Amino acid sequence: MRQAVLKEPGVIALERSPVPTPGPRELLLRVEACGVCGSDRAILAGHHPVVTPVVLGHEFAGTVVECGALVTEFEPDARVSVDPNVVCGTCRFCRRGLVNHCERLTPLGITLPGGYAEYALVPETNAYTIQDSTTFEMAAIVEPLACCVRGIEQADVQLGDVVVIFGAGPIGLLLAQLARLRGAALVVSVDPVSSRRELARTLGVDAVLPADTGAVSDAVTDATNGIGADVVIESSGQSIAAQLAVDLVRKGGAVVWFGVCPQHEQISLSPFLVNDRELTVRGSNINPFTHQTALTLIERGRVRVAELISDHIGLDSLERALRDPQDFAGKPIVHPGDVVAHGVE
Ligand SMILES: [Zn+2]
Ligand SMILES: [Zn+2]
Repeated sequence: MRQAVLKEPGVIALERSPVPTPGPRELLLRVEACGVCGSDRAILAGHHPVVTPVVLGHEFAGTVVECGALVTEFEPDARVSVDPNVVCGTCRFCRRGLVNHCERLTPLGITLPGGYAEYALVPETNAYTIQDSTTFEMAAIVEPLACCVRGIEQADVQLGDVVVIFGAGPIGLLLAQLARLRGAALVVSVDPVSSRRELARTLGVDAVLPADTGAVSDAVTDATNGIGADVVIESSGQSIAAQLAVDLVRKGGAVVWFGVCPQHEQISLSPFLVNDRELTVRGSNINPFTHQTALTLIERGRVRVAELISDHIGLDSLERALRDPQDFAGKPIVHPGDVVAHGVE
């Protein structure tokens, strides 16, 4: 089979390797669709630690080809969406329900081989059956949406809230839709890229602003009679936006840092301000127990995902999609084995 292997930070290569054999509780999946994520780009660029060589790709879905001897829930030909985060189940964090902080977390596509390959092994516990009407592309978006479900839970958006979201890429637009579902009265998206702002409008975001600090601050002041936003979510991965988020939130409000900022950057934060204004500042990390919720929201049509997909590509174009994100308006989806059927390239 063909697979894209990260040989070392900065070096990715298409290689052939034998189709793997599933262990007792594993499924062998034919990968039908795998989303290209900002994390993959950060890993290739060397900004995110990873042990090489590894097959990247953690947002994927496919068809079960073979089941390990002890698999109980699936049979060949089952169509599944994959939660890539394989946890141990026995560490101190897993046993407290904090599986996203598992001490032996081994994500498919980051630690274990992932979805930029024609076939992948997936533990049965990480596969979720999808409806016949759900496309594999939709099923590949479940993982990022599951992370956003966690983000919205961390933000605890309430009915009638004013919610500001920095970043209107695929993640920011999923968060915006979830904020609306939670009952936000006004959702404001902030992004410097005009095509993203346009898409945000199409998806029903109430106010869309370029990333001009003064304009954003004025808009929030106007919309809230000077009080500030109830919730501000930073999803752009820009430290400056993480800082601005704290300035925009009202007394007693919540800030969620969702985007992955460069590891060694610092911002200045006034402890007095956090104390005096009783601010909540939270992180949000991956997808603890949210994959099924995200899948249901997509299958019930509550969250629109088709608009977020900009390109269908084969493995041959993966490197370009990772290195030149500016050439892709939204999320590219890789079809590792079947480029022609999707009318690609
Ligand atoms: Zn991702
Ligand atoms: Zn664990």
